[in-house]
Amino acid sequence: MSEPSTDCLFCRIVAGDVPADVVAESEHALAFRDVNPQAPTHVLVVPRQHVENGAALAAASPAALAGVVGLAGEVAEQEGLADGYRAVFNTGVGAGQTVFHAHLHVFGGRDLTWPPG
Ligand code: 5GP
Ligand code: ZN
Repeated sequence: MSEPSTDCLFCRIVAGDVPADVVAESEHALAFRDVNPQAPTHVLVVPRQHVENGAALAAASPAALAGVVGLAGEVAEQEGLADGYRAVFNTGVGAGQTVFHAHLHVFGGRDLTWPPG
């Protein structure tokens, strides 16, 4: 695992140096609302440790990956998403990843088409 980076936006949010609307947290993960929501619920669940993407997180710490996915489930419950939600790791520039600190998008509160666009 890499050290927290002052250059990394999500490391700075985890450290409390950049404000965020935090909705849940645990030993391994922090959940906060996306600043540019694409659904009524759009929360980002990030590991506390700095790794580039979801697969790197799995390699570095299966427990932290489980913590991220588990916290996403808690957020969905807390947000009343009994009907369903979508959890996505964008991985790589071609998939739209813009912040290279692993984050699980949690979407819900509207119809979620499949396959996604
Ligand atoms: P990606 O495109 O890397 O999968 O997702 C990055 C997400 O981070 C985007 O949905 C974007 O709206 C969100 N984001 C970017 N900057 C900030 C910020 O400063 N605060 C919060 N809460 N979200 C941010
Ligand atoms: Zn980071």
